[in-house]
Amino acid sequence: MTLIDVAIIGGGASGTTAAFHLACKSKNVCILEKNSSFQGRTCGGGISSAVQNWFPFQLSPIVEEVITNVEFSWCNADKVVAELSGSSPFWIVKRENLDGFILDKALNSGCNLLTTFKVVDLKKHSNIWQITALDGRQIEAKAVVIADGSNSPWPQALNLGPYQQKFASTFSGTIKRRGNIKSETARFEFGMVKNGFVWAFPANDEVKIGMGTFLDKNNLMPVNQILKSFLPDLGFEPSEVIGNEKKLRVWNGHGKLNGEGILLVGDAASLCDPFLAEGLRPALMSGFEAAKNLIYWLDGEINCLGEYTETMQKKWGNSMAWGKRISQVFYRFPKVGYQLGVKRPTAPKRIAQILSGELSYEDIAKRVIKRLLFKK
Ligand SMILES: Cc1cc2nc3c(=O)[nH]c(=O)nc-3n(C[C@H](O)[C@H](O)[C@H](O)COP(=O)(O)OP(=O)(O)OC[C@H]3O[C@@H](n4cnc5c(N)ncnc54)[C@H](O)[C@@H]3O)c2cc1C
Repeated sequence: MTLIDVAIIGGGASGTTAAFHLACKSKNVCILEKNSSFQGRTCGGGISSAVQNWFPFQLSPIVEEVITNVEFSWCNADKVVAELSGSSPFWIVKRENLDGFILDKALNSGCNLLTTFKVVDLKKHSNIWQITALDGRQIEAKAVVIADGSNSPWPQALNLGPYQQKFASTFSGTIKRRGNIKSETARFEFGMVKNGFVWAFPANDEVKIGMGTFLDKNNLMPVNQILKSFLPDLGFEPSEVIGNEKKLRVWNGHGKLNGEGILLVGDAASLCDPFLAEGLRPALMSGFEAAKNLIYWLDGEINCLGEYTETMQKKWGNSMAWGKRISQVFYRFPKVGYQLGVKRPTAPKRIAQILSGELSYEDIAKRVIKRLLFKK
C-alpha cells in the first residue's frame, strides 16, 4: 500500500480548502469522501467575503448574490435595515458550487479524490494512520485531517474538540423563484423560532430559507408552522420549499484541535457560530490554517501542530466564546433582546458587520464593556 502524506476525511468546505493548500505545496494528499456528488448540501450559503483572504484565486465566479442590506424583523413587523459597507459585503453562494469549485482547484493542483469512501475506522500503527472504508478499501497516511462535518465520531474517539459537544437544530430549504424578497437583501426574523431565528437569502434565481434553534434541549422545531407564519411576508407558500432538517454542531468551548499527526477542521472541530450558525467562514479558515501547519509538520517541524489549535482559538474561538454568551442571553429573552439589542440605533449595523467579517463578537463585547465603564 502506498503511503500518502495527508488523508482528508470529508470533501466539504473545510476538507477541500485544506486539500487545495496542501496540494499547492506538492504534498501527496487525498480526499476521502463518502458521497459521489455534492448535491443536496444542507446550508444557507451565506458567507463573508473575508474568506477570499484564504485563496489565491477569485471566488467571485460562484457568488450568486452580493448582499448589501440586512433586514431584521420581529414577527414580520418592527423591521430595521442595516446597510453593509462596501469593503466587506456578505455573499450568497450555492453550497454545491462552493465545494465543487474549491475541489476542482485542489484536483488541478494535484490532490487525489476517492468517492463513495465512507470512513468507518481510523487507527494509528507506529506513526502511520490507517483509514478503512465501509467497503474494505484502505489508505495509509502520515497525517489525517478530520473534515467530516457535524456527525463526525472522531473528536470524541480521539478525545479532541470541546469538553462537551453541542448541537443546534436547523432546517435549510430552497424556493425556485424570488417572490418579493428585496434584491441584495438578507432577511433575519427573530420572533418566530423558539430560541433561534429564521432567515431568507436571495440567491440569483432562487431564495434560500433556513432556520435554527440554539438552546432548546429537546431541539424540537415546528418547521411547517414557522414556514407558514414567515413566508407569506415574502410572497411564498410553505409548499414551495424543498428542504431538510439537520443537527449542526456548534462552538461550545475551547478544545484541543490537534493530536499527533491529526487535526480537526470545520464542523468536526465544533467551530460553527452558536448565535448566527455561521460555519462556512471558520470551515475555510480552519482548512487554510490546518494545511499551513501540516506543511511545516511534514517538512520536519514536529512540534508545530499545537500552533494550529492556538491560532484557531485566537482567530476564531475567542470571538465564539462571546458569541456563545450573547446567544445564551439573547435567545433566552429574545423579545427584550430584539428591542434592546437589534433595535438599538447602532446594533443592526454591528450584526451586519459580524456577518461580513468586519467585526468579531469579541470586538463588540469590548466596546460594550468600555461604554459601561466610562458611562457617566
Ligand atoms: C441548515 C443549515 C444552514 C446553514 N447555513 C449556513 C450559512 O448560511 N452560512 C454559513 O456560514 N454556514 C451555514 N451553515 C453551516 C455550514 O453549512 C457548515 O458549518 C459547513 O458546511 C461546515 O463545513 P465542513 O466542511 O466542516 O462540513 P460539511 O460541509 O458537512 O462536509 C463534511 C463532508 O464529509 C463527508 N463525510 C461525512 N462523513 C464521512 C465519512 N464517514 N467518510 C467520508 N466522508 C464523510 C460529507 O459527505 C461531506 O462531504 C449551515 C448549516 C446548516 C445545517
